[in-house]
Amino acid sequence: MLDTCKTQLLGLYYLATLPQRRHAASRRCLQSQVPMIVLFYHRVADKHPNGWTISTTRFRAQIEWLRHRFEIVSLETAQQRIEMGANDRPTVCITFDDGYADNCQMAIPWLLAEKIPFTYFVSTLYMQLGKPFPHDVARGRPLPPNTIEQLRDMATAGVEIGAHTRSHADLGAVHDKRKLADEIIGSREDLEDVLGQAVQYFAFPYGMPKNLSTAAFRLAYEASFRGVCSAYGGYNGPAGDSFHLRRIHGYPEWSRFCNWLTLDPRKLSIGDLYNPGDYRNPKEL
Ligand SMILES: [Zn+2]
Repeated sequence: MLDTCKTQLLGLYYLATLPQRRHAASRRCLQSQVPMIVLFYHRVADKHPNGWTISTTRFRAQIEWLRHRFEIVSLETAQQRIEMGANDRPTVCITFDDGYADNCQMAIPWLLAEKIPFTYFVSTLYMQLGKPFPHDVARGRPLPPNTIEQLRDMATAGVEIGAHTRSHADLGAVHDKRKLADEIIGSREDLEDVLGQAVQYFAFPYGMPKNLSTAAFRLAYEASFRGVCSAYGGYNGPAGDSFHLRRIHGYPEWSRFCNWLTLDPRKLSIGDLYNPGDYRNPKEL
């Protein structure tokens, strides 16, 4: 009941602020100051829905909606525009986290057939073991992870595969540097071993400010990752930090999805919620 009420209020807020958003959007295009949006999904499936599943119909509808309004680009292209300090059109990237086998039923073959770029982040331990994620086991619904073969097929088809730790650890709680390296660099090594190609991006599990740390940013930066992704919401404005890509959840509810994608004026500064500190400079001893 409370959820329905919230969704209705959000829908009203969205409609009430739409003229203001449209005006601001055309001004940003003229000034080449359109922020890049990076979306994250987990699992696209029609069976066993949970908080991180979107139905195949809704996923397809969202991507079609995006296609008519945005240029869908790779993470690298988005970063280049941030580095240039200029972007004159609505731009979105699509990513997936964790590595659920169900995504190979509809989402991945369809995106590939439609030539829509996306990045696929994988926690390698579960893929190697062929065992479900502990968070799904804890909820009584073990769901199969992707197999190594599925990942190889994706990489061969041109999908950018990214690292998402080995054990899906909360890196905000990891203070041991060797453990951090094992999760961040180790997961990249696992993927590069099976794929035979470079892995350039890393996504933090959970991705909220409390799950991030300067030490983890520094480690990824020094290990020559091309970029890292958080997941606490926020947009990526031109001239911002291209190494840290803020991501928005691909909410299944239309009102929430549209509200984020049309740049909610209340959320324009949410990207600054986390400051990764001076991670580009070596730590003083
Ligand atoms: Zn995850």
